[in-house]
Amino acid sequence: MLITHDTRCALDTVVDLVNTVPEDESATDGLADVAALQEFVGTHEVSDIGMLSELDLSAVRRIRGRFAAVFAAPDARAAAGLINDLVAAAGTTPRLTDHDGYDWHIHYFAPGASVADHLAADCGMALAFFVVAGEQERLRRCEAPDCRRAFVDLSRNRSRRYCDSRTCGNRLHVAAYRARRKEAAG
Ligand SMILES: [Zn+2]
Ligand SMILES: [Zn+2]
Repeated sequence: MLITHDTRCALDTVVDLVNTVPEDESATDGLADVAALQEFVGTHEVSDIGMLSELDLSAVRRIRGRFAAVFAAPDARAAAGLINDLVAAAGTTPRLTDHDGYDWHIHYFAPGASVADHLAADCGMALAFFVVAGEQERLRRCEAPDCRRAFVDLSRNRSRRYCDSRTCGNRLHVAAYRARRKEAAG
């Protein structure tokens, strides 16, 4: 499937958003306060965002949970229902833009949309295209036992099982390698 620059950015944004959820009680929330949200928005170059407030923070945390559910959806129908709800609530108005030197692409968020609605519309549509392309199963959660981070599997044969933001894949490779060596030696 063709993934445009803007879809790619929206995918990175939504994966990072879902992964700001603390992995356990001792970990800190990646969106702990308004300053953290401000930094997130800046890092991901979310355009047309004004001053952020506590209301924005709670709204973004709410849609974060709903995006997490999309990555955990068992099939395309379940994912489609979740995405439809997210995008409908955000009130989208598709329009062509070539801002900041990028080629023509479509923004889905309504002019003046809150940051939560902006993310719900644009990230929701990026995920929608995966369902349309029959690629919903590329929206995954890491299979490492103590990690449920979200990722998008862009490998050719959809074979990726672990996230790359920690050492999940590596760690399991090492464990398997050790087990094989032990077997060979025993
Ligand atoms: Zn754009
Ligand atoms: Zn992982």
